[in-house]
Amino acid sequence: MNGLESFSLQNQIAVVTGASRGIGAALAQGLAAAGADVALLARGDCSEAAAAIQAAGRRALVVPADLGTAGEGAKALQQVEAELGAPTILINNAGIIRRADFPEYSKQDWDEVMAVNLDAVFELSQAFAQSCLAGKRGGRIINIASMLSFQGGIRVVAYTASKSAVLGITRALANELASQGINVNAIAPGYIATDNTAALRADTARNQAILERIPAGRWGDPSDLVGAAVFLSSPAAAYVHGTVLAVDGGWLAR
Ligand code: NAP
Repeated sequence: MNGLESFSLQNQIAVVTGASRGIGAALAQGLAAAGADVALLARGDCSEAAAAIQAAGRRALVVPADLGTAGEGAKALQQVEAELGAPTILINNAGIIRRADFPEYSKQDWDEVMAVNLDAVFELSQAFAQSCLAGKRGGRIINIASMLSFQGGIRVVAYTASKSAVLGITRALANELASQGINVNAIAPGYIATDNTAALRADTARNQAILERIPAGRWGDPSDLVGAAVFLSSPAAAYVHGTVLAVDGGWLAR
């Protein structure tokens, strides 16, 4: 294999969580453009991304799932295996953020953020790894981390704790699974214009402060993450294990 062939996702089956909008919808379409069939998991409507994938000539399967509920992720993966085939790529992208000052931060917000951002990553990654090992297939797990995997953030204690843990689980699983042909890595997006960051962009002072700190001088677009996800999913990344690739307009370099 040489040249661009090693970046192709032909004959791969990818699962993308949180594919109804934002980064997940862009990644689902990006993986399909690189040749993969894609299962789209979310609570909301994934039909637009699914239609775009089918229009590009790939198979798309929408699996409604509330990943905040234990067991839903593993169940969704079984449905993917039955209806689309055994997945070879898992993108743990679904995530939520809740903002409040720490003294008032509710345990309910803490629990809900942890359930989607961390517990679901554990559950889906375990079900995916079990399926790969049982089928004697290699696989790729890509976790969507954050700048708050490295930094503390403000008023987002659960989100920071969950995303810091996503970095830890990425390294822990890479250590255990690398020798079995399963690559586990993470992508850390910088400040990307999605629903997740709408409150920051609506706050003129915060928006200005963030923009001034980004060396690239602009908010990221969900499509900015596609190249990193295709690379980490592809044969070209066969020897890449346990790394985190920041796609942040230079934020961490500052
Ligand atoms: P977004 O536009 O708010 O999208 C979040 C996605 O997660 C949606 O598809 C949503 O689908 C899904 N989701 C939320 N709760 C879910 C649940 N209980 N079950 C299933 N799916 C659920 O946010 P985004 O910016 O694209 O974020 C995607 C990922 O990137 C997240 O992990 C986020 O933390 C991370 N990230 C984002 C940024 C940024 O600047 N935007 C930066 C760093 C990291 P439904 O609501 O339809 O279920």
